[in-house]
Amino acid sequence: MRTKAYWIRHSHILRRDEYVCSACGETTDKPKKTCPNCGSTMKGVQGDAGWVDEMEALDAFFDD
Ligand SMILES: [Zn+2]
Repeated sequence: MRTKAYWIRHSHILRRDEYVCSACGETTDKPKKTCPNCGSTMKGVQGDAGWVDEMEALDAFFDD
C-alpha cells in the first residue's frame, strides 16, 4: 500500500545533500517523486528553507 511521505533534506558541507524518506528512512542524493525503497508518494521536500510544496516547482526540481 502506498502512503504519503516527504523528503527531509540534510545539508552537508563536504558532500552532497542527502534526502531522507520520512516513511522508511531511505536516503538518496536526489529527491524522486516516489521513494525507491518503500514506494511512498513524496509530497515535497522539507529543508532549511521550509516546505517546497508546489508540485509544479518540484517537477523541475525532481530528477527522474
Ligand atoms: Zn521510503
